[in-house]
Amino acid sequence: MGKVKTRFAPSPTGYLHLGNARTAIFSYLFARHTGGDFVLRIEDTDRERSRKEYENMLIEDLKWLGIVWDEFYRQSERFDIYKEYVDKLLAEGYAYPCFCSPEELEKEREEAKKKGVPYRYSGKCRKLSPEEVEKLKNEGKSFTIRFKVPENKTIVFKDLIKGSIAINTDDFGDFIIVRSDGTPTYNFVVVVDDALMGITHVIRGEDHIPNTPKQILIYEALGFPVPKFAHLPVILGEDRSKLSKRHGAVSVRAYREEGYMPEALFNYLCLLGWSPPEEDREIFSKEELIEIFDLKDVNDSPAVFNREKLKWMNGVYIREVIPIDVLIDRAIPFLKKAGYDVSDRDYIKKVLSHTKDSFDTLSEMIERLKPFFVDEVQIEEELWSFLEDSKAQEVLTLFLQKIEGNKPESPEEVKKIAKEIQKTLKVKPPHVWKPLRIALTGELEGVGIDILIAILPKEKIEKRIKRVLEKIA
Ligand code: GLU
Repeated sequence: MGKVKTRFAPSPTGYLHLGNARTAIFSYLFARHTGGDFVLRIEDTDRERSRKEYENMLIEDLKWLGIVWDEFYRQSERFDIYKEYVDKLLAEGYAYPCFCSPEELEKEREEAKKKGVPYRYSGKCRKLSPEEVEKLKNEGKSFTIRFKVPENKTIVFKDLIKGSIAINTDDFGDFIIVRSDGTPTYNFVVVVDDALMGITHVIRGEDHIPNTPKQILIYEALGFPVPKFAHLPVILGEDRSKLSKRHGAVSVRAYREEGYMPEALFNYLCLLGWSPPEEDREIFSKEELIEIFDLKDVNDSPAVFNREKLKWMNGVYIREVIPIDVLIDRAIPFLKKAGYDVSDRDYIKKVLSHTKDSFDTLSEMIERLKPFFVDEVQIEEELWSFLEDSKAQEVLTLFLQKIEGNKPESPEEVKKIAKEIQKTLKVKPPHVWKPLRIALTGELEGVGIDILIAILPKEKIEKRIKRVLEKIA
């Protein structure tokens, strides 16, 4: 195999969808695995639907995922090149101008519908003589340019994932390669670009299988070598319908904002449709994936997206993979957004080192770590009854006395004090922990209370407990 070159070719018409992100990842990994190059190409020839903001977001999200490209192109900057190839197709009789109006075409479409047959263009303008074409152009009639599709020809290609695929040209008919506003269409420019950029492997979603025979015809008409195709299986939601907004967040951006680690999302998306050679392993770094990823291990059946599994994997990354300083860098914007004080990095480090096993995402972290960062905690009405108990008051009072001189600085020391209180007051462990937890966190469950006491500054502990004691006195 010569040097491989792959590409990811998103249209900037929306957020980067998880399915497209997986396509980008597989194309990137295959290029890197084989020592080849990877191209990012923004497919923005559709003026109406493309937006610069989406392009910026796509680029940011790809970078965030850790995808690195060797070459970058924007189709809207290549119109001159496409024009050259349209002219070539016209001159050589592979394409022709079509003057049919949208109304006429709509009529054709309706007739096909009535007859219950799939629509394809009648080919009416194919028969126009050069003089007629000239005349219509002179009259200023707007036109598109269509590719002349040979009739009843079966196009066969060998897909690296799906195997041999055969599609008859009668299924689609003459298709538009230049719109009436002069902009070229996807099926045409994709061929010109893939050929001129030297793409060897076209890796994309299986929804593009019906486009492939159209593209092969254009490759042949322009005398370009046909690349290899690898169409990735669709991603389904858990109800086995195509993954969409109905299934919840489906954009990379949404996961990023939710506090997912890019490495975890990258890793998880790889497992959608690809099986690692080592069966019992699921956690892989990007470098390891580059080492082992191969298209031959991509399955041809649909992959099911499991949100819970992704969340679990993110938790594994937070707990075991991401270095603490990187985690802090990523946590700070979230803490800040929640209004927490982030001026003391050492404090954040202490908190995160002790608590990072208690949340799976950074937005969960915000809730979980509230008692470490807020000034005062809110205690729900129904929890006051636990504090009004006379034993609870004794526990809290004794605890305050115990920490007066020296505040415990480790969970072990906190546990030791709790044991002493149990002994002195002759109470069971929950009678010590529960009032402390409610007074210090306002909640019945949450982060380890021994950890909270060990880390929280003494004044905050005293303030929270005194406030409770004053209220119930
Ligand atoms: N712009 C197309 C898309 O976003 C690219 C398809 C392809 O990879 O050929 O679906």
